[in-house]
Amino acid sequence: MKKDFGDMIPLAPDFAAERFTEVFTNGLLARHLGTYFTCAEVNHIADVLHSNGSAEGAQLWLNAHFWECDEISGHDVYLASVFELPEKSAA
Ligand SMILES: [Zn+2]
Repeated sequence: MKKDFGDMIPLAPDFAAERFTEVFTNGLLARHLGTYFTCAEVNHIADVLHSNGSAEGAQLWLNAHFWECDEISGHDVYLASVFELPEKSAA
């Protein structure tokens, strides 16, 4: 019989955050997916990674996302930290 999430013991939040950070601090993954997420979604990914000790991971996702981002103003908190702003915002 198939179990649903209500029957399962959840991971400890710290362990789940650690696992998420390990898997998502990945430049190739960020490059492949970063342009598909909305500004808010990428900001939240960056928040989680940064708050769990991976500034590198946060940077990877923001840089990857910014190449296709049409709402740079949606990232006010992070603009100063981005290394690879697209040309459309460099002017
Ligand atoms: Zn954006």
